[in-house]
Amino acid sequence: MPAETKLFRCLNDNYGVLIHDPASGATAAIDAPEAPPIEAALKATGWTLTDILVTHHHGDHTGGIADLKKKYRCRVVAPRAEAGKIPLADETVREGDKVKVGTLAANVIETPGHTAGHITFWFQGDKIVFAGDTLFSIGCGRVIEGTPEMMWASLLKLRDLPGDTRVYCGHEYTLANIKFAQTIEPNNAALAARAAQAERQRAAGEPTIPTTLDEEKAANPFLRADVPAVAAAVGLAGKTPAEVFTEIRARKNKF
Ligand SMILES: [Zn+2]
Repeated sequence: MPAETKLFRCLNDNYGVLIHDPASGATAAIDAPEAPPIEAALKATGWTLTDILVTHHHGDHTGGIADLKKKYRCRVVAPRAEAGKIPLADETVREGDKVKVGTLAANVIETPGHTAGHITFWFQGDKIVFAGDTLFSIGCGRVIEGTPEMMWASLLKLRDLPGDTRVYCGHEYTLANIKFAQTIEPNNAALAARAAQAERQRAAGEPTIPTTLDEEKAANPFLRADVPAVAAAVGLAGKTPAEVFTEIRARKNKF
């Protein structure tokens, strides 16, 4: 049976999301920014929390773990490289590990850069990826603990997944990301279409995610650092994609 998902806002601009396995009744929260909106989503759906899958150690992704674990006795799965920073983890995982949520299965992909041990959960059978703060809609996370080269390599791993994979990310930053992306590729038609769509969605109070990898590949400048026109647009024609990515990320930091 296909997975069901429930997306909702947490804190200021974070997203919480639940993934539910109708076959077994298992339900995982991807990250836990804060407990109350997650409990409200569980109440609204009638689902019972069995697992929390943590992408990285930042407080706006882990702040709700303690309360939820106490209340639901759920299993907490966290990146092995950040185990010391996520003290309530029951299991730690690394690249290539599989995590089961009932009968659903996620592959663990290490995507360092935003943090040194950031991981992404890819539910291959359901064509869903939970990218945390690595890949955003038309953007990417700030490179805080890693290097831009590391982040570019992480984004390439995600870009290589099937194009119809739905992408869930940790924040609603899409409109601001689009404004920046248009400074890099003002004539990108896919980006213009995405801008119109995202404006409609936000005006209607709807989330702009999930997006798909195909949409991101067409319009997200951080996935397009190896497109010659993008390199030329930032004055780095002929340079390596990692150098182009580094420049785009630096420009976004100042935008
Ligand atoms: Zn973060």
